Amino acid sequence: MDAAVIGGGVIGLAVAWRAARAGLSVAVVDPDPGSGASHFAAGMIAPVGEAEFGEEAVIAINRNSAARYPSFIAELELDGGRSAGYRQTGTLHVAIDADEQVALERQYRYRQELELPVERLTSRQTRDLEPGLSPSIRGGMLVESDHQVDPRAMVATLLQACSRLGVQIHRSRASLLVESGRAAGVSLDRGERIEASSVVLAAGCWSGAVEGVPDEDRPPARPVKGQILRLRGAPEMIARTVRGGSVYILPRGDGRVVIGGTVEERGFDTSVTAGAVYELLREARALVPDVAELELLEASAGLRPGSPDNMPMVGDSTTPGLIIATGHYRNGYLLAPATADAVASVLAGDAWPEATRPWSPSRFRRTAGVGT
Ligand SMILES: Cc1cc2nc3c(=O)[nH]c(=O)nc-3n(C[C@H](O)[C@H](O)[C@H](O)COP(=O)(O)OP(=O)(O)OC[C@H]3O[C@@H](n4cnc5c(N)ncnc54)[C@H](O)[C@@H]3O)c2cc1C
Repeated sequence: MDAAVIGGGVIGLAVAWRAARAGLSVAVVDPDPGSGASHFAAGMIAPVGEAEFGEEAVIAINRNSAARYPSFIAELELDGGRSAGYRQTGTLHVAIDADEQVALERQYRYRQELELPVERLTSRQTRDLEPGLSPSIRGGMLVESDHQVDPRAMVATLLQACSRLGVQIHRSRASLLVESGRAAGVSLDRGERIEASSVVLAAGCWSGAVEGVPDEDRPPARPVKGQILRLRGAPEMIARTVRGGSVYILPRGDGRVVIGGTVEERGFDTSVTAGAVYELLREARALVPDVAELELLEASAGLRPGSPDNMPMVGDSTTPGLIIATGHYRNGYLLAPATADAVASVLAGDAWPEATRPWSPSRFRRTAGVGT
C-alpha cells in the first residue's frame, strides 16, 4: 500500500479518504471504526464561538478548516453517496444573568477586535430569534457562520466513501512495523502484515500506546472525558445551537437534540455519572425550559484526544515514513478538513503546508536535553 492508517476515527478516515481521492492505495486498521471520541461528539463546527483570548493563530487555522467544510462535505457526499448531516444553522450564545452578560460583552468585543462575524443582541432580539429561550435571558451574541455536522452520519459517509474508492478497512488492532529504521507497515491481530510506504498514526487518545511505535515518537496524547446527552422531541424547540453557562444545546433539525458536554481529566474512565447528567440537564433547562419535555435517548461519555497544549499533533515523527495525526481535543470534526488535506498532500509527496506547521509533534520532543 502507499499508506496504512492506524485508527478509523474521523481523523484517520478523513485522511484515508482524501489520500485515496489523490490516487493513493490506502488501508485503515481499527477494531471498531468510528467507535472512539468520534462517536460521541456533538459536531459543532464553531471556530468563531470557540475563539479563546490570545489564541489568534489557533483561530486563524480553525477558521481556515471551517471554511473548507462546504466543499469538503460536497465531495464527501458525492463519493459516499449519503448525507453527512452538515447544516449551516449558526450559533446563539446567551447570557442568563448579569455576570454572564458582562462575560458575553467581553467575548463580543474580543471578536469584534479580530473582525470576526458576530452580532450583539438585546434580550428581546435574542428571544425573537429563538422563542423557546427562557424569559430570563439577558442578551445574546449571534454567530451565523458557526455550523454543525452530524458526527455519526459523517463517519458513516466517510466509511462508505473510503470503501467506494477502494480503501481497505481491516477490523483489527494494529501494531507499527519498523524495519531498518523506517516505518514499513502495520501488523494485525491475526499476524497478517500490511506493507506500506507510509504509516499514519491516528489512534486518538490511544495513540501513545500503539505497539511498535518507538518511544521517542509516542505522541503525548491523553484522554479528556466528555459526558454528553442525546434527546428527542420538539423539532421546533430551537432552530440553532444555543450556548450559555457551561452547556450547549444543539438541534439536528429533525427533533433530535444534543446537550453537552463535560470536560473532565479522569484517565480512561467512561462511566456516566448521575451528577453530570443532572448538571447538563439543569443548565440546559435554565436556557430552554422545554428541554424537560424531551425524551432522553442516550447518556454517554467519550474520550477526546488531548495534547499537552491542547493543539493538534500532526506532522512527521523521527521515524521516516511515520506520520502522527492526533491531539485534536475538542475540535476533531472542525479540524478534519485541514488535517486530512495536509496529511494527504504529504503522503502524495508534497511538503507540509505552512498553516499546519505549528501542529508539528516536534514541539514536544527533547533533543540533547533541549526542548525543540
Ligand atoms: C462529548 C464530546 C463532544 C465533542 N464535540 C465536538 C464538537 O462539537 N466539534 C468537534 O470538532 N469535536 C468535538 N469533539 C472532539 C472530537 O470528537 C475528537 O476531537 C475527534 O473525534 C478525534 O478523532 P480521532 O479520529 O482522532 O479519534 P477517535 O475518534 O477516538 O478514533 C481513534 C480510533 O483509534 C482506534 N484505535 C485505538 N488503538 C488502536 C490500535 N492499536 N489499532 C487500531 N486502531 C486503534 C480506536 O478504535 C478509535 O476508533 C467532541 C468529543 C467529545 C468526547
